[in-house]
Amino acid sequence: MSEERPKAGTRRNFVRTVGRIAMAAPVLALPIVLSKKADAKGYVWQIDPYKCTFCEQCRTLCIMTPSAVKCTNAFQMCGYCDFCPGFLRQGAKKYSTAAEDQLCPTGAIKRKFVEEPYFEYTIDEKLCDGCSKCVKGCYDFGNGSLYLQIMHNLCLNCNQCSIARGCPSDAVVRVPADGPYVRKELKGTPRVVPLAVVRSRKKQEATFRRKYTTGEENVSC
Ligand code: SF4
Ligand code: SF4
Ligand code: SF4
Repeated sequence: MSEERPKAGTRRNFVRTVGRIAMAAPVLALPIVLSKKADAKGYVWQIDPYKCTFCEQCRTLCIMTPSAVKCTNAFQMCGYCDFCPGFLRQGAKKYSTAAEDQLCPTGAIKRKFVEEPYFEYTIDEKLCDGCSKCVKGCYDFGNGSLYLQIMHNLCLNCNQCSIARGCPSDAVVRVPADGPYVRKELKGTPRVVPLAVVRSRKKQEATFRRKYTTGEENVSC
């Protein structure tokens, strides 16, 4: 009996499901921590990812070093692109996973092959300092699945968050401690990639890489 080949996207869907569970786990463990950190009215600070303009100041404005702000990936929105503009530095001489071609200055974005032609991108929060470079790259050229959040296992929930005070976009807001994250994947519409696009993906990516790495013009995938 011949082995049945998994349908395209099966492993990717599995990764998405695992991603959802992985993101839910810290949330489930948080209530005890947050009950101690929340202010008298039961609120904590959080970044509204729909207001953030990736100004890079979260890295330095936070009183914590490294910042309590980290990048996260909305797996339901991510295109699992081989060519990820949040991962690859624009203007890189070649398309590769070498450190010098990566956009992240701390090497916090981890890339793992899922199935042809998809790759999973996860963030090593210990390395991420919330600089938002990858968030901007993904927003400008990709699906916008990378976004910043204040991590409540690290945040001190200061009376006056210094990021909220300095944020040029008023993106840092008070949210209820029992809903301490503003998850893009809960609102974002997963991108449906037409089959014809998937079939011609390699050709598209070749063009995309050339334009992206030579800076010919702004393109989006
Ligand atoms: S300071 Fe505001 S706009 Fe700048 S990266 Fe942080 S949340 Fe985004
Ligand atoms: S580019 Fe900046 S925000 Fe993105 S993962 Fe690296 S350190 Fe974090
Ligand atoms: S509340 Fe304090 S620790 Fe938390 S993100 Fe703002 S400045 Fe950093």
